[in-house]
Amino acid sequence: MGNAGPTGGGAPEPGARTVVVRGGTVFDGTGAAPRPDWVVVARDGRIDWTGPAADAPTVSGPHREIDAAGGTVLPGFVDAHVHLVMSGDGMNPARLLDQPPHYGYYAAIPRLRATLDAGVTTVRDLAGADQAIALAVDEGIVPGPRIVPACLALGPTGGHGDFRTACGFDYGAVQGPSGAVSLLTDGTDEALRNTREVMRMGARVVKVMASGGVWSPRDTPWDDGLSAEEMTVVVREAAARGVPVAAHAQNAGSIRNALAAGVASVEHGYEIDERGIDMMGESGAFLVPTLTTATTPPDPARSAAYAVAKKLRLQERLSTHVSAALRAGVRVALGTDSGVCQHGRNLRELPLLVEHGLSPEAALLAGTRDAAQLLGLADEIGTLEVGKRADVVVCAGDPLADVAVAADPGNITAVVRDGVVHKDTRGAGARA
Ligand SMILES: [Zn+2]
Repeated sequence: MGNAGPTGGGAPEPGARTVVVRGGTVFDGTGAAPRPDWVVVARDGRIDWTGPAADAPTVSGPHREIDAAGGTVLPGFVDAHVHLVMSGDGMNPARLLDQPPHYGYYAAIPRLRATLDAGVTTVRDLAGADQAIALAVDEGIVPGPRIVPACLALGPTGGHGDFRTACGFDYGAVQGPSGAVSLLTDGTDEALRNTREVMRMGARVVKVMASGGVWSPRDTPWDDGLSAEEMTVVVREAAARGVPVAAHAQNAGSIRNALAAGVASVEHGYEIDERGIDMMGESGAFLVPTLTTATTPPDPARSAAYAVAKKLRLQERLSTHVSAALRAGVRVALGTDSGVCQHGRNLRELPLLVEHGLSPEAALLAGTRDAAQLLGLADEIGTLEVGKRADVVVCAGDPLADVAVAADPGNITAVVRDGVVHKDTRGAGARA
């Protein structure tokens, strides 16, 4: 055994592509009952074998053993809504004004690490991160979760995505390391062109702004964003390349507009009404309720006054609406909006999903199998099945009994992505 590569430790050990996880209870994400004392073997980045310890194959040659005794072995988690280039501690204008170009790429490095350490092995970045960050992670230059990027979001002039303040200062230009987080989109012609443009940039999901939002200076969550007509053009053009569309939609009308246009997911959905819930059931679209951000109190010291006021108003009733949707059985994928809230605490979303009506098992599936389906990666990730990518997380204790244990990154004792051990706090060399 070589270096354990504990939290924050250096590069993963090269060559150790066979990993054996032993001693834990396996929650494999397929919907099967948890299995005590099961073993997972990964080889060359894929899951090679799973089964009871008594039948486990003898592994010879160099390999890594991960001790999961007393813990639960789960598929690597998916966070379907993050912004890696955003700081997660408010939009502090004085700080942002003095930020050099491209700084955001470097600032993302510790966030990628923290996200991985929290147990998240795949993220969907819904504006800001681009192909440069996704490629750097793929190539192992920077450790992090695999990234499904939207690159830039499509939103209307003066709407969410237009981050110019009254004086003309553009928050978007400093948030996005490439100089933007969105493409202003007005009318169906621009909707068509900008959809093609973000896909050219490497977007594997197209993000549209169906409503206004909290952090945009010139609109509110109760304003509509892109029209149903504009979003219909986006959905059709993206579908031609097999790319799904995610809609930021907070008020009830905007949620219905987005669903009528055929989006794959409603992001936030804080004021979803009965008709919206019915439409979700009919279309099979996912709700990504981003409760972590929704329930974080606004910090007046770090936020513009307009954002604080909007957020407080939004928080008044969102729990009722989101709970109604979850209890009605809409499809749910775990997403946090990390970047707007703190990075590296992604699995705090699990207890919040349970508080709003999911069972612990359903919450865990929302963060694994179901989110993988939303990302179009169900054949590759989301469950611990032979042939899938070896994304494996070990959590101390039993998150099915108390889902909050997974919310503390300190309880995530091991993280494996594509068969590479990125974290193993109980491994050789990890103990003081
Ligand atoms: Zn977001």
